[in-house]
Amino acid sequence: MNSSKRLERIPPYLFAEINKKIAEAKKRGVDVISLGIGDPDMPTPKPIIDVLEKEANNPKNHQYPDYEGLLAFRTAVSQWYKRRHNVDLDPEKEVLTLIGAKEGSVHLSIAFLNPGEVALIPSPGYTVYKTAAIMTDAEPYEMPLLEENEFLPALRAIPSDVVKKTKLLYLNYPNNPTGAVAGKEFYKEVIDFANDNKIIVCSDNPYSETGYDGYKPLSFLEIPGAKEVGVEMNSLSKPYNMTGWRVGMAVGNADIIKGMGISKSNTDSGVFNAIQYAAIKALSLPDSHIENLMKIYQKRRDLVLDTFKKVGLKAFKPKAAFYIWTKVPDGETSASFATKILEKTGVVITPGAGYGKTGEGYFRISLTVPDERLKEAMQRIEKVLA
Ligand code: PLP
Repeated sequence: MNSSKRLERIPPYLFAEINKKIAEAKKRGVDVISLGIGDPDMPTPKPIIDVLEKEANNPKNHQYPDYEGLLAFRTAVSQWYKRRHNVDLDPEKEVLTLIGAKEGSVHLSIAFLNPGEVALIPSPGYTVYKTAAIMTDAEPYEMPLLEENEFLPALRAIPSDVVKKTKLLYLNYPNNPTGAVAGKEFYKEVIDFANDNKIIVCSDNPYSETGYDGYKPLSFLEIPGAKEVGVEMNSLSKPYNMTGWRVGMAVGNADIIKGMGISKSNTDSGVFNAIQYAAIKALSLPDSHIENLMKIYQKRRDLVLDTFKKVGLKAFKPKAAFYIWTKVPDGETSASFATKILEKTGVVITPGAGYGKTGEGYFRISLTVPDERLKEAMQRIEKVLA
């Protein structure tokens, strides 16, 4: 079957390749520990599940939901943004229910990118921004996130002919895969850059709540002027252990939200109302829920950092998110090292090259595995590399 040119431009989904390797190793009888995908291992809190159960039994919720999402959910989102980030949002015009941050990034591209226009994407970065651009016949342009710039892009170093064609800028802080964070100064630069060049900013921020050592990551919308140039994608996936539930939100500029809504209402038919009611419950949980969650990730983070230090691997200590970005040893590529670790230890790590050209020379591990399995993985790595 001849697929579209568009589909041919899309590289294989990173985790599909990794899953293939895991399946092969398991077939050989290896006890595989995957530190690959960032998918919280801990269960969704019970009060959220209880609401789902109750609302799933209400026949009123069995029909098509509203396209833009329940106003009650959008109101809960605006209250949550006020509480957690001191951001004011109009639930009617500045909030849209999503089936997760992932699809939001794609709809933004469909709604605003024309063929031939450029989307600036972080490299290394979450792979979906690239495919979102490709799916609209636009051109992704990889902005290198370099160690020496604390993994922030040098916006003013982007060639002017590229900037001229740019319509969309994807940013993601706290960052997957590097764990880097962005401060107010950087975001001010972003807003100036967007205003100077008429660029829409997408802050993909599903790790907005995941700070360590008391650090509080920013929402892009906390910075004056942000709402004039952009939107933020966020989600209940990570802070409430709800990746499988598929519920999130786009917030910010009303015109951009409206455009995304048009794309969405012609593609999907919204999020099951019972899930939205459960999500309202999640957003109203006390802040101590997230603090306790982050204590667990912090312990895991420190265990990995200690192990990597012992075996001479250079890891970047993340201030947020649940990934550890680390340099591969001299003489290895990211793929050769990931293969070696899998073959010698049964531990899956993600090769950095899968996140874009600038990801070569690094690997990522995710802290979303139970403590005992992470300990076991670290022991195996220590044995092989020490
Ligand atoms: N954006 C980034 C940067 C991510 O790392 C992920 C998931 O790993 C997502 C979006 C997807 O989030 P969601 O589950 O809300 O679609």
